[in-house]
Amino acid sequence: MGDIPGIVVTGASGRMGQTLIRLAAESDKLRLVGCVERAGHGWIGRDVGEAMGGAPIGVSVTDDPLEAFAKAQAVVDFTSPAATVEFAALAAQARAVHVIGTTGLEAEHLARIEAASRHAVIVRAGNMSLGLNLLVRLTQKVAAALDADWDVEIVEAHHRMKVDAPSGTALMLGEAAAAGRGVALDAAKASGRDGITGARERGTIGFSAIRGGDIVGEHDVIFAGMGERIVLRHLATDRAIFARGALRAALWGQGQKPGQYDMMDVLGI
Ligand code: NAD
Repeated sequence: MGDIPGIVVTGASGRMGQTLIRLAAESDKLRLVGCVERAGHGWIGRDVGEAMGGAPIGVSVTDDPLEAFAKAQAVVDFTSPAATVEFAALAAQARAVHVIGTTGLEAEHLARIEAASRHAVIVRAGNMSLGLNLLVRLTQKVAAALDADWDVEIVEAHHRMKVDAPSGTALMLGEAAAAGRGVALDAAKASGRDGITGARERGTIGFSAIRGGDIVGEHDVIFAGMGERIVLRHLATDRAIFARGALRAALWGQGQKPGQYDMMDVLGI
């Protein structure tokens, strides 16, 4: 028991939180030692298995993250940017690996995460699936092989509850295309087209977002040339792919040097 890393899941009642708890409870490589939700949430004080509508699993939900993190070797966090920056400082204090899946992080959040990573191992990725991370690598390679006569457009689709756009994954793909071309994404990014936009500017990387129903996550990277088009596509049909990647990152992070890592590091691709 002693050598099996203990993990805490934050945002326990969320879509990703519940998926993580189910997978962690079945795992023989790690054990679930804590669950965190925001203060005032109806699950606080309840056994998380029962709160999820099943049998008790002996872990109750708390609104005190530091107390939970102190018992853990890793914190797996898919919540909100404001919560994640607080958890980064607390996880560093507890010397626990912090796996961050939260998206929509702005520069101020990233700066605080960077500060926490001076003392702790942080693995952060806008998408934790193996297939998607391979798509990122492919996007970079294709962008490097083609010149700016090929227009790059990234089209993503997600469920109706998603609050940020473009998705964290779409931005990862945009960064990869920009890196392949040797340009900065900030300078090349074109999103939110509406009305008389004028002709497409050469060299830009376009983003479009579709929101609806229960779509787990779909991404197309389109390289549109004259008379031909390449489309690289990833379709996620089960959010367990993100949870499995995050739990793998929690294990991989054990014994690494303090710093920020991503899923490319974890997967070795
Ligand atoms: P969700 O809204 O279903 O769940 C978020 C949970 O976090 C909620 O239960 C909420 O109560 C909880 N929370 C918010 N503030 C908190 C706090 N201060 N303390 C404790 N808990 C708090 O959302 P979701 O679909 O599970 O997604 C969560 C995040 O993960 C989003 O940013 C989403 O984009 C991202 N996501 C990333 C990946 C990836 O692979 N990196 C995959 C899926 C989702």
